[in-house]
Amino acid sequence: MPVKDYSYEWMLDRVYSKVPVKLGGGERFVPPKPQIVYIPGKTIIKNFSEITDKLRREPRLLMRYLLKELAAPGSIDDTGALVIHGKFSASAINVLLNRFIKTYVICPNCGRPDTVLKKKGKVWILVCEACGAEQPVKPF
Ligand SMILES: [Zn+2]
Repeated sequence: MPVKDYSYEWMLDRVYSKVPVKLGGGERFVPPKPQIVYIPGKTIIKNFSEITDKLRREPRLLMRYLLKELAAPGSIDDTGALVIHGKFSASAINVLLNRFIKTYVICPNCGRPDTVLKKKGKVWILVCEACGAEQPVKPF
């Protein structure tokens, strides 16, 4: 029998994901709220690494999405904060963050955020660890 190379952590995730989830009673996934500060000419998301940790997405992936949508240059600094060149309102950033979460984090089948994004070349698939659904998503 071929042995698949599943990491222990991944297996553990699988085990936990089999436990019935109690998300039915109106309980919703609460996306992390970005802490935004402004310095002249720049918009900084202070808790950027916290956000990507909670979403379980690579910081560089979310950075690329936000910068592309805002059509602005930017980078991640030493503290893990995202520094965007230009001034952008908190609501504009919230809209984009929510759009990212809806498309690239939340499972369209069961509504859980327990997903991983698998990239096979140009094809990206959102794989849900809670219900097993696989959803192709648009690469960017
Ligand atoms: Zn699901």
